[in-house]
Amino acid sequence: MKKIFALILGMALLFSLYALADKEQKDPLLIEVKPAKLTPLKKEAFEWLEKNRAELTKINEEIWRFAEVAMEEYKSAELLASYLEKKGFQVKRGVAEMPTAFVAVYGSGKPVIGILAEYDALPGLSQDLVSSKKPVEEGEPGHGCGHNIFGTASTAAAVALKEVMEKRGLSGTIKLFGCPAEETVVGKVFMARDGIFDGLCCCIQWHPSSSNNVSIGSSNAMNQFEVEFFGKAAHAAGDPWHGRSALDAIELTNVGLNYLREHLKPTARIHYVILDGGGAPNVVPDYARAWYYVRDIDREYVEKDYERVLKIIEAASLMTDTTYKIKFNSGVHEMLSNRVGSEVVYSNLLLVGPPQFDEQEQAFAKEIQKSLELEEKGLKSEIEPFKLPQRSWGSGSTDVAEVSWLTPTTGLGVVYKPVGTPGHHWSAVACGGMSIGHKCMLTAAKVMAASGLDMLSHPEIIKKMREEWMEKKKDKEYKSPLPPDLKPPVKPRK
Ligand SMILES: [Zn+2]
Repeated sequence: MKKIFALILGMALLFSLYALADKEQKDPLLIEVKPAKLTPLKKEAFEWLEKNRAELTKINEEIWRFAEVAMEEYKSAELLASYLEKKGFQVKRGVAEMPTAFVAVYGSGKPVIGILAEYDALPGLSQDLVSSKKPVEEGEPGHGCGHNIFGTASTAAAVALKEVMEKRGLSGTIKLFGCPAEETVVGKVFMARDGIFDGLCCCIQWHPSSSNNVSIGSSNAMNQFEVEFFGKAAHAAGDPWHGRSALDAIELTNVGLNYLREHLKPTARIHYVILDGGGAPNVVPDYARAWYYVRDIDREYVEKDYERVLKIIEAASLMTDTTYKIKFNSGVHEMLSNRVGSEVVYSNLLLVGPPQFDEQEQAFAKEIQKSLELEEKGLKSEIEPFKLPQRSWGSGSTDVAEVSWLTPTTGLGVVYKPVGTPGHHWSAVACGGMSIGHKCMLTAAKVMAASGLDMLSHPEIIKKMREEWMEKKKDKEYKSPLPPDLKPPVKPRK
């Protein structure tokens, strides 16, 4: 009898240990979200996207081919703007004094849902649709961040939403924002300063990625600016005492900044490049120019760091007897994530499912990985778990953050590039212009359209998104990081 009792006790103990171990294995950061339901409205939106797949693919390919860099996106912006116009949107071009920025509006009344589109390429990344480095034209731009897909998918989602709204008589307003110059962190910052995003109830965005994910992490706030030093030229050997070196001023600035790092919070990030350091060693450079990024976890920290950086620049000019000029380019906030909105987007990502890449596409991805000496894992075909971020701050910066301070903003990432490959790279250009990019585009468009439909048909979603947003930003009102008189760096049409 005693033996049986001991056996039962032992088994119970073992069972509870198992249960405990199982519990411990569960990731405490994991958030469980169920797939969204396939409603008749969503079905219609998906059907519209499938039916228009060929035309959308063509737009994606065309913007990929245009490959226009920041502020030069004349053809890309026009292609999307005229497509939206043709589909029944009211388009306002040249908003916020930027010829390549536009807003396309459909519908009326509340809720007003924003969707962000980007379409700028990166300099020097020209690449053919092949799995090894082969520029179409050496030194020309290429879509190394997938913004051709970004712009096309967002536009597609906006039109799909409009089609369903029109057919079903749904009230509300869809605003598609054509945002130029993301790569220089300019477009949305100027649009935000000029009130272009005002009046939104919420906003949806996305980005092509190497994983299918919805993140509720943040990003770093940042200021980016250029410094020019003006000295006096002289023969570097004959009469250097007559010279005042502008390059010395930059070098002393950088030495100062590198000493400063120790006395900033570990979250601060400062980086720089010298754009002009003189022409020849035997001439004391009378002109030099450098470009700086100062980042930290939030605007307040960035502004404090920036004040100290300015002091160092001034000190370097005193030490070298040179003068200087600062050109403030842009600044951004840290991103305010929105968990309520992100859960809606994630549930729709689960509903739509990840892009289905075929054997050929996986082989293409693996060839790229092989050529870059990376593990040949191909393209991710699963959806990342939805998790709380491990830390509340991020390392990169984005001008989407500006929108997130003006309205609750949420988004997703969809696979278009092979696991482990670098961003802003020829391999990303190659994948974004072919079937891999097109599949990514359609998935992103479906998830955004479905999420938009959820937000349109369930007012409590936006209400909750806004409650969370108000709670997060507390009493802080949006204040543009830009000086009020700063003009956007407009470039002429080529
Ligand atoms: Zn990007």
